[in-house]
Amino acid sequence: MLTAYLTHPDCERHQMGPDHPECPERLAVLNDHLLIKGLLDCMQAEEAPEVTDEQLLRVHCGLWLAQLQALSPASGYARLDADTLVNAYTLRAARRAAGAAVRAVDLVMSGQAPNAFCAVRPPGHHAKRSTGGGFCFFNNAAVGVAHALAVHGVQRVALVDFDVHHGDGSEDIWAGDDRVLLCSSYQHDLYPFRDAAPPASNVVLAPLPARSGGGAMREAVSQHWLPALQRFEPELLVISAGFDAHREDDMGNLGWSESDYQWVTEQLLQQARASARGRIVSCLEGGYSLSALARSAGAHVRVLVEA
Ligand SMILES: [Zn+2]
Repeated sequence: MLTAYLTHPDCERHQMGPDHPECPERLAVLNDHLLIKGLLDCMQAEEAPEVTDEQLLRVHCGLWLAQLQALSPASGYARLDADTLVNAYTLRAARRAAGAAVRAVDLVMSGQAPNAFCAVRPPGHHAKRSTGGGFCFFNNAAVGVAHALAVHGVQRVALVDFDVHHGDGSEDIWAGDDRVLLCSSYQHDLYPFRDAAPPASNVVLAPLPARSGGGAMREAVSQHWLPALQRFEPELLVISAGFDAHREDDMGNLGWSESDYQWVTEQLLQQARASARGRIVSCLEGGYSLSALARSAGAHVRVLVEA
């Protein structure tokens, strides 16, 4: 059984204007890297289906779907917020990105794949129940979590987010829902400027200071995430995998390296083996230095492939 690799050409048709860091080349460079490193040969690649309304409505409100549809231009760009734009292909790309998470959950929960990586854009973790923002439209990882809970009969899912930005959308959707343990590390002085107090007992926050480096992350994960995960005993782990904490990524300055992404993935795999039969579904979030994104995601995917 091979790691599943979910992506779709539609995900590269969504654009937010020239020079926007969340660009289609992110997926092309990542795909090339996985190919050159021989990792794609060790994965089962599949085109992501479009998410259904029923699947979306488990985490988003219908009004937001209607608003995004109404905002979608036939050509050019419409603006959702200062940094988040919509073109003619955005809605379809967003539907593929969320659909990838759903399909990945199906493959992993049915035992057709040990784990899965969704190489998708737009990213999702800033998308809240009733609105998008921060480059995100639908919360792909949250849609995957909700699908596992609704369809596969699991009682406990961990949603783990190591993007340099706090996943405020995921927190909006899952805070207070004890079926989900949300673990999030992030640089605290960046968008969306989350303070340190967790809003509910199912949210474990690991805010990290700028320039704290990979060592601080490893310490925070060991001290906060891993004990909480061990107590929670998730039956599935879903990862919001952002790679913008890398030292070459201008979006943040936590100073992580490829080996830090490898390390955190290994820790999560160990937990998945302990309580979830190894089941991990990982969804790409941020990562804007193209070269660092490819190498970091490559290190992350290699752990999944060699699991
Ligand atoms: Zn980010």
